[in-house]
Amino acid sequence: TPAPSTNFLRGIIEADLVSGTYAERSDKQGQALPQVVTRFPPEPNGYLHIGHAKSICLNFGLARDYNGRCHLRFDDTNPEKEDQEYVDTIIDSVKWLGFDWDHDGQPHLYYASNYFDVMYAGAQALIRKGLAYVDEQNAEQMRETRGTLTEPGTDSPWRNRPADESLRLFEEMRDGKHADGTLILRAKIDMASPNMNLRDPAIYRIRHATHHNTGDKWCVYPMYSYAHPIEDALENISHSICTLEFEDQRPFYDWVLERLAEEGFFKKPLPHQYEFARLNLTYIITSKRKLKQLVDEKIVSGWDDPRMPTIVGLRRRGYTPEAIRLMCDRTGASKNNSWIDYSILEGALRDDLDPKAPRAVAVLRPLKLIIDNFPEGQSVECSAPVYPPAHPLHDSEHRLFPITKNLWIEKEDFMEVPTKGYFRLFPGNKVRLRYGYVVECTGCDKDADGNIIAVHCNYFEDSKSGTPGSANYKVKGNLHWVSADHALEAEVRLYDRLFTDAHPDAGGKDFKLALNPNSKEVITAYLEPTLKTAEAGAIYQFERHGYFVADRVDSTAGKPVFNRAVTLKDSWVA
Ligand code: ATP
Ligand code: MG
Ligand code: MG
Repeated sequence: TPAPSTNFLRGIIEADLVSGTYAERSDKQGQALPQVVTRFPPEPNGYLHIGHAKSICLNFGLARDYNGRCHLRFDDTNPEKEDQEYVDTIIDSVKWLGFDWDHDGQPHLYYASNYFDVMYAGAQALIRKGLAYVDEQNAEQMRETRGTLTEPGTDSPWRNRPADESLRLFEEMRDGKHADGTLILRAKIDMASPNMNLRDPAIYRIRHATHHNTGDKWCVYPMYSYAHPIEDALENISHSICTLEFEDQRPFYDWVLERLAEEGFFKKPLPHQYEFARLNLTYIITSKRKLKQLVDEKIVSGWDDPRMPTIVGLRRRGYTPEAIRLMCDRTGASKNNSWIDYSILEGALRDDLDPKAPRAVAVLRPLKLIIDNFPEGQSVECSAPVYPPAHPLHDSEHRLFPITKNLWIEKEDFMEVPTKGYFRLFPGNKVRLRYGYVVECTGCDKDADGNIIAVHCNYFEDSKSGTPGSANYKVKGNLHWVSADHALEAEVRLYDRLFTDAHPDAGGKDFKLALNPNSKEVITAYLEPTLKTAEAGAIYQFERHGYFVADRVDSTAGKPVFNRAVTLKDSWVA
């Protein structure tokens, strides 16, 4: 278990607490504000994935640890791709991960689209100060005049138009008098700046589109880089944490806030942006566009397919919020981009489930075992602890299941001719049937093609687990089994990684070429009869196999369907 990585963001926050950077703030009602206010700002244009979980754990985790608050803010300034369906699933996923946005009895859930009035007024103020202008160049002309990293850009012919004219045109834009893409409002900063983001970035564009929250009220919408700092400042965010790609945007973030503070829009201290390396996990993709492609092309069954790296997919796969939080803690926050191995996520799930998951028996690749000297039609009750040894209920909770003459065992637990070191069933060898009896193998039956169809054995009546006689038997093999007369027949899905390539979409590769053809195998398994009452979403350790969850979509009363979340050991060979 790796120690939690140092988290440089904690260092920054602790320094701010010592120097009291955000100590003297109050909101509009005069209420004192926490010194640490963070936010998680998803755009409601898709389902959250494991990368978002990283940001959620960081932002909500820092607020929790420093007695602050974290806002859930829908960054919904882009009308086209956003939808209520996504708002709802994001709320569910954040809650499921174990976080909430309440602080001192107040919910802190916000929509950036509720700030359109302020953003619009801010843009007018910038125009009045000569810090923004309406440009009539089209997108292509703007690209051409932007310059390059080595060449300065060229001023737009409209750059020095009078503020009154820009104000009037900006109003006409808002009033729907112009078509999409014909006019654009740009900040007036420096077309020769070495930072391309400061070469008169666009701040407002025309989009005749219906917005999921504001409807048809607006046909001009702010650009993300202009809207985001305003959203942060309006919500009194102190530490605005984002991924490294936004590092070059920070000067513009500060520019917007400083200029608008001078115009009385915001009070100091202003929010500050900090960047950390995004979470990159091997064997998965996190681009929303590509995940959507997997869904649209029916490569997976939906956003919640158990192979998807979405929060809803991970949940259905059998991941717990604790495991995801553990993985996020273990991987810390860094300033350098790197790849985290997928096995770190799987390891966190095993570590979370091992001490708490109830145990159960499942035969996944069944082979008949016949105890020839066991009375026909009889059954003997066997008892096994529900919980693992370290669990507080280990000694008190037991499950009961019958042993009978005809059993199911795993195919791989019998070899007619054993290989060296094999100590399971082979003719002449004794093994223990866990929680039951010691048996001695006597042979097997084959069909016309030579396939083994049943194994035979005799049992020792005085060898029952938990009875004094059992101590007289020393055997190496300890096999699981279920009674063929009582087993619950169930669909089990053996899931594996969706991709065989550790970096399925790196360098513009076609990720569909890296799909793992064996990422889902559906089998009929024989389960311990107590699993009949497994509730949808319940997670078990199937002894010797791994962790399995009763699928929350396809399970019905008395008929659970199980998904393999993760095997007991990391057996992946690339
Ligand atoms: P897009 O830009 O396609 O809309 P996105 O992944 O950036 O997708 P957002 O909804 O903007 O989606 O993300 C919300 C927050 O989650 C952002 O603050 C973003 O930085 C963070 N985030 C997204 N992906 C990761 C990741 N892989 N690791 C850490 N944080 C991430
Ligand atoms: Mg985004
Ligand atoms: Mg993004």
